[in-house]
Amino acid sequence: MSAAPYDVPVGPTIGVLALQGDVREHVTALEASGARAVLVRRERELEGLDGIVLPGGESTTIDKLLRAFELAEPLRDRIASGLPAYGSCAGMILLADRVLEGIPGQQTLGGLDITVRRNAFGRQVDSFETDLTIEGIDDSATRPMHAVFIRAPWVEEVGPAATVLGAVATGPAAGRIVAVRQGRLVATSFHPEVTGDTRVHRMFVRIVCESL
Ligand code: GLN
Repeated sequence: MSAAPYDVPVGPTIGVLALQGDVREHVTALEASGARAVLVRRERELEGLDGIVLPGGESTTIDKLLRAFELAEPLRDRIASGLPAYGSCAGMILLADRVLEGIPGQQTLGGLDITVRRNAFGRQVDSFETDLTIEGIDDSATRPMHAVFIRAPWVEEVGPAATVLGAVATGPAAGRIVAVRQGRLVATSFHPEVTGDTRVHRMFVRIVCESL
C-alpha cells in the first residue's frame, strides 16, 4: 500500500445528457465546479455516475431521443432510486412530474413534484435576463445571480415534496417560480451554464458529494 504524496481531491463523476441542447456549456461549468463530466448517450454510460445534468434545449426533442436511444426508462429508474439530477430549462421540464403546454404524447422523466408550463414567459419576452436571489448557492443573500431565460418554462405549481429556491423579482413575470429543489433533484428555468457564474453547478456538485 503506498500513500499518495499529497492529497488530490477527486471530484464526483457527473454525466451530461448529450442527446441535444447546450451540452458543452454544462461540461465546462461542471469541470469548473470540481466535478469530472462525462457525456451520456447510451444506457451503459449511466454506469458509475454520481449524478446527471439534463441540459437546456428542446424538451420535446430530448424526450423523443431519450426514447429512441432506449434511455428514458433506465434514466427514469435511476432518478427515482436516488441519482442526483440537475435540469436547466428543457432539463427542468424533463424532471417535472407534470407539464402544461406539452405537445401530444410528450413524456418526462419526472421526480420533481412540480407542474411546469412550457414557453411560459410568452412571445413578447421569449428571451430575457434578470437578476435573481437563489437559495442555497454561495453568497446567496449578498450576490444576486444573473439569469438568462430562453423560451423558458416557469413552475406553475409546487407540490408538497418540492421547495422553491428562487422566483423572478421584478417586471411582468414577478413572482414566477424559476428554481426548485427536492432532495437530490434541482431544476432552474434559466441557464446558469451560459453566464460563467458556476454557483448553481457548485451547489449541485455539493448535493452530489453529500449523496455519496
Ligand atoms: N422551450 C423549450 C422546451 O420546451 C426549452 C427551452 C430551453 O431549454 N432553452 O423544451
